[in-house]
Amino acid sequence: MDHATCDLCGQTLLAKSKVRFEMKIEIKAAYDPLNLSEEDLAKDVSAQIAQVLRQLEGLSQEEAQDQVYRAFQYDLCSACQRRLVQDHLARLKRDPDA
Ligand SMILES: [Zn+2]
Repeated sequence: MDHATCDLCGQTLLAKSKVRFEMKIEIKAAYDPLNLSEEDLAKDVSAQIAQVLRQLEGLSQEEAQDQVYRAFQYDLCSACQRRLVQDHLARLKRDPDA
């Protein structure tokens, strides 16, 4: 993403169009808000914490972070922007749950 070329087709941005586009994709773990009771706060959670730490063993910091958050950014020319939007809309028509 250098704001000078399209990350999909490699075309120089703003050469054939006065507009360039940015696409951002953010993937993050979704958590519901915690509703803690007095009973929850009184529990010993050390075993649960130890389990989470065991799950993280052997993972790099980046690997651990990738499990909860990842973001991508791309520069697009107008042709690739139109193609992506049309492809996405066509996919939605075929499969509304996509
Ligand atoms: Zn392009």
